[in-house]
Amino acid sequence: MIPPGGTIGILGGGQLGRMLALAAAQLGYRCHIFDPNTDSPAADISAAFTCAPWSDRNAMAHFAAGCDVVTYEFENVPVGPLAFIEPGKLLPGARALEVAQDRLSEKSFCQDQGGRPAPYVQVDSAEDLTAAIGRIGAPGILKTRREGYDGKGQWRIDSEREAGGFRLPSSGLVYEGLVRFSGEFSVILVRGHDGEVRFWDSPQNVHEGGILARSSLPASPVIAGQVPAARELAGRIAAALGYVGVMTCEFFATAEGPVFNEMAPRVHNSGHWTIEGAVTSQFENHVRAICGLPLGDTALVHPRVEMRNLIGRDIDQAAAILAEPGAHLHHYGKGEAREGRKMGHVTKVSA
Ligand code: AMP
Repeated sequence: MIPPGGTIGILGGGQLGRMLALAAAQLGYRCHIFDPNTDSPAADISAAFTCAPWSDRNAMAHFAAGCDVVTYEFENVPVGPLAFIEPGKLLPGARALEVAQDRLSEKSFCQDQGGRPAPYVQVDSAEDLTAAIGRIGAPGILKTRREGYDGKGQWRIDSEREAGGFRLPSSGLVYEGLVRFSGEFSVILVRGHDGEVRFWDSPQNVHEGGILARSSLPASPVIAGQVPAARELAGRIAAALGYVGVMTCEFFATAEGPVFNEMAPRVHNSGHWTIEGAVTSQFENHVRAICGLPLGDTALVHPRVEMRNLIGRDIDQAAAILAEPGAHLHHYGKGEAREGRKMGHVTKVSA
């Protein structure tokens, strides 16, 4: 167990790191952020900040030496430099990152654990794309295997003819069949050092333009009926990875049951509602898990909870939101409100 007063290193300095650092502070820990960008909402509220490229081994080794445990809030941290962190100090481990960073390995890992992703085929050339559409059909979505997020690195393809005129942006892609779903949901779990797993209630998630717009509870009855199977899969994935901390798996609810979309080896946007909506938030339980503390109760504390992202200029509504009864505003303190940038979120709880 890492006693209060210890230092938690966080790789990545965005809003997830900021909310982790706030939860860590409540439990008596200090946070040290590592991020290549000078502009860091997490570093703004943390005890220390190393601003260096991911590839700077000396900076990484020095950073890790000063931390009692190191975690990550960004899943595209290159895995190579993590070798400069003492074995056992990085939680969750590097394997979870490796699997989640590549859509192909993520899908095959899910299948190895008995899960069902959307039909998919690896694509590295125009010929591969034609063959993939021949096998799976259209419409479908072509995605970069690595580094895509918030709908970036994705192209919808409606017909084989359309694919003929499509210029591949690169190799290293995957073509997925379009899933007909009645709703989207996520399974958010925390796993402790001893393998104990706790799940939060699953929120129903609505994406707009590939970006999460809202997460709400309770989810529809159709989703509620598919949560047990989805939890079973997520629990098996976490166990197979020897996972410690909070992990999220996103699913489509379909007529044939839950279809796995992707996993995030970290706290997740669809779990922000847990700050006000659950006894223990995802951020606090992540800190508890990696520090070897007892896990907290994940039960809902309000019958209805809705989290809405404030994207781009939505943040201009901050003052009006503060005036709404029952609304909790989280402002990430980021500079420019660029289009598509997550600037904050608001959670509303009600009876
Ligand atoms: P992703 O970055 O893969 O999570 O995709 C973002 C969002 O795009 C998902 O949450 C869905 O709303 C939509 N999407 C992605 N892949 C598919 C798919 N194969 N079928 C239907 N919708 C999808």
